[in-house]
Amino acid sequence: MNAGELVPDELVAQIVGRKLARDASKGILLDGFPRNLAQATYLSRISNGFPPVVINLKLEDTEVVRRLNGRRHCAGCGSIYNLCYSEPLKEGVCDSCGGELVLRPDDRESVIRERLRVYRDQTQPLVDYYRTEGRYGEVEASGAIQEVFDSIVQTMSRSDVRS
Ligand SMILES: [Zn+2]
Repeated sequence: MNAGELVPDELVAQIVGRKLARDASKGILLDGFPRNLAQATYLSRISNGFPPVVINLKLEDTEVVRRLNGRRHCAGCGSIYNLCYSEPLKEGVCDSCGGELVLRPDDRESVIRERLRVYRDQTQPLVDYYRTEGRYGEVEASGAIQEVFDSIVQTMSRSDVRS
């Protein structure tokens, strides 16, 4: 992950499979899974009776880089901040514990660019996969948190996405 690469399919599949077996009937949210065609095929196989609704959050690369590169993580208590929309009161210092705020290695710009390259290569093809499967919607994610949340709720209740 620190090099901007993905966790192996087999490991992710085991974790998701266990979670689905336990909680699929209640409904679960998978964030960032599936990320490639092998994972999508696996998900289709194990989600029998509970076909996924897929929401694709659309965002320009420059904004992806800005947001991820703005994340700061407290070395003391693990709290997460973002210089773009949830800054600490004092620069570089955690509001909760006074610990030092650090940039995680996988949020460095060079690693984010590599993550975007991997996304285009492996994850982007899933748009066509899920478009043909149905139950697919897109949401513009450049707005404020509440606007994006409202768009997700609205998209999930659209009849062509829900059916
Ligand atoms: Zn802290």
